Amino acid sequence: MTKKSIFKAKRVANENVSAWLDDHAIVVENGIITAVEPTSSITGANESYEVHDLGNQSILPGLIDAHSHMHCSATPEAQTLALTENVQQLTIRATNNMRKAVLAGVTTIRDLGSRNEVAFPVREMINNGHVPGPRLLLAGTPITITAGHCWFFGTEADTEDQVRQAVRTQVKLGANVIKMMATGGMFTPTANPRQPQYSVDALKAAVEEAHRVNIPIATHTLSAQGVKNVVEAGVDHLIHSRWYHSDPTKGLDYDPLTVDQMVDNGQWVDPTIGHHLLGQEAKERGEPGPSDPHWSVSSTVVEEHEHIETLNKMHDAGVRFTTGLDMGMPYGTHDRSCANAWAFVETLGWSNWKAIHANTAGTAEALGVNKEVGKLKKGYVADIAVFTGDPSKAIRDMDCASTVVKSGQVIKLNDRVLV
Ligand SMILES: [Zn+2]
Repeated sequence: MTKKSIFKAKRVANENVSAWLDDHAIVVENGIITAVEPTSSITGANESYEVHDLGNQSILPGLIDAHSHMHCSATPEAQTLALTENVQQLTIRATNNMRKAVLAGVTTIRDLGSRNEVAFPVREMINNGHVPGPRLLLAGTPITITAGHCWFFGTEADTEDQVRQAVRTQVKLGANVIKMMATGGMFTPTANPRQPQYSVDALKAAVEEAHRVNIPIATHTLSAQGVKNVVEAGVDHLIHSRWYHSDPTKGLDYDPLTVDQMVDNGQWVDPTIGHHLLGQEAKERGEPGPSDPHWSVSSTVVEEHEHIETLNKMHDAGVRFTTGLDMGMPYGTHDRSCANAWAFVETLGWSNWKAIHANTAGTAEALGVNKEVGKLKKGYVADIAVFTGDPSKAIRDMDCASTVVKSGQVIKLNDRVLV
């Protein structure tokens, strides 16, 4: 028998996720949206429909996050735990994190680096309905050099041939995306964020292997030379895209010509500023806050506003931003994807709707799933996040969803968890 339900509320996002439709209803059959109509015009709704009247609330598409590490703890000990926990511990942690994410209203997540033995089985358990969690697009292990950024849950590959083999291995395991560490990172003392980890040729090899099987490649990059390399190599997504100078006595080394090339190539950037915002707020609450700067960047202090300036310049030049929290890194809890939208509004000065669009339809487009999710529209998967209040007026009203529907299944209803 067809399972039919109706979700109605005072505010429902329109199909472009750019304004509210007043007093509308979403009709769902077998997990797919079949209509979005004014509540008054819903006809034929009889006892075969399960009707959920959500009243004076706001219905948005389920949130989409482009950057998670499912088995990382999101606590100040995230690095130590990732180094020392065994596969069983990491799997339990990942299962709980994915449950938290979906209960907060995040219905699609791209995981950009977790151990293969954890990520692929967790996705299988979610897809088979054994545990609650978001729709997952997986990289599995990130690809990094020996002792490079996140080596402790990565695949180490140094030469061009090793890189090709590493990409092919991830594809074989079922990866939907390749994650590569193009520079060192803050999380890893044995890697240098100011320096590239790979040559342009090695990056090109990875791009070629990923694109041969039609999957995108996302690269972590913190330095100007790293950004230049990945732009030239033609990767699809830049993660962080910071501009640290290779000389430790200098700050940033922003290059507008590289940014123009980024725009021409249609390369997306995940600026990860929601994560920064959560770290600062933790510090203000009296918690330890973000860890001490990496040794390679601490010699010349770069203030956050300098990074924000480069991000604003990139965006003004036409670079599009995804919402990726870097879930799992300290204070980037898996239920806080909405902090991406908060940061776009509060730090970059975007309008609320532009930020809401980025956290839904925009990032769906970046991830190549925009024909299925990210919008409340006929034919789309019924992924729904409902918020009390009005996020178009107060962005922080978009926080923990009160009601969550994934593929038509109600997993939380008015703050009551049903899974
Ligand atoms: Zn990350």
